[in-house]
Amino acid sequence: IIARCEAFYEDLDFTAAREWKEADPSRKVIAYMPVYVPREIIHAAGMLPLGIMGGGDGLEVIHGDAYYQSYICRIPRSTIELGLSKRMDFVDGMLFPSICDVIRNLSGMWKLLFPGKYVRYFDVPQNYKDEVGGSYYTNELNELPQGLEHLSGRKITDDALRASIAVYNENRKLVQAVYGLRSREPWKVPSSEVYLLMRAGLVLPVEEHHQMLRDYLAAAEKVQAQKRDNCRVIINGSFCEQPPLNLVKSIELAGCYIVDDDYMIVHRWLRNPVSTSGDPMQNLSLAFLHESIATAAKYDDKEEDKGKY
Ligand code: SF4
Repeated sequence: IIARCEAFYEDLDFTAAREWKEADPSRKVIAYMPVYVPREIIHAAGMLPLGIMGGGDGLEVIHGDAYYQSYICRIPRSTIELGLSKRMDFVDGMLFPSICDVIRNLSGMWKLLFPGKYVRYFDVPQNYKDEVGGSYYTNELNELPQGLEHLSGRKITDDALRASIAVYNENRKLVQAVYGLRSREPWKVPSSEVYLLMRAGLVLPVEEHHQMLRDYLAAAEKVQAQKRDNCRVIINGSFCEQPPLNLVKSIELAGCYIVDDDYMIVHRWLRNPVSTSGDPMQNLSLAFLHESIATAAKYDDKEEDKGKY
């Protein structure tokens, strides 16, 4: 399982996503950047959500350096490099969440560099009151399907949305099961493996990821590894730019058990299942307001909530 995940991680041509798309000419791929987008809506449109974490340490950035100042982080420059080197030429659209000004600027650059591709800057509320941020965010969510429907020529129905919410509820449950097992018995579940499993979830259809997570959990439960006198550590702050895999391995080899992290936090952004009855957009909106994980990537509007996670 992990060898397969590692192949996905190293494949900067996104062959798995390309093959998914080539299997049916009507299929579309919508890429997204960190930290969170409601993948349920892309899934309900029959499209593949593809998580882009930049080029990592496996890509030499040449053209991308011309677009950002040298002190700016690597993820936007290496993402431009992925685009200009045609590694993402099969991608039909791209969502840029409102994580920071760098990503916002990248959305504008993407529009200029790739005219004709669907590009959306995806804004999320900074106010967590239902009647203010909630109403704003429900409107924002309701606008997203228009662009996707235009691309696919297929209406996104409420039933399809509810079904996709159920699929991602299952994904969150399995992801949390992996994280829970690692927290309880980290000697059975190396963090480098958890990292690669989550990376695979960015490129695979979610249903395939489910099976992979189930198979991994079944195998990990049976591992007869020796518990070591390691320090339990939490990695926080890597929600956007990702560390090289070897850094994750090095932390473990240095005698630490990573028992929690915020890598690829999109998988765990919502802590509890989203309701599958009633208005699905409103459910996604309320889940964002009240079930978002507390991380350094999320605005805390109450002073007493800061630093609690
Ligand atoms: S959130 Fe941080 S790492 Fe991500 S693009 Fe913005 S500045 Fe770079």
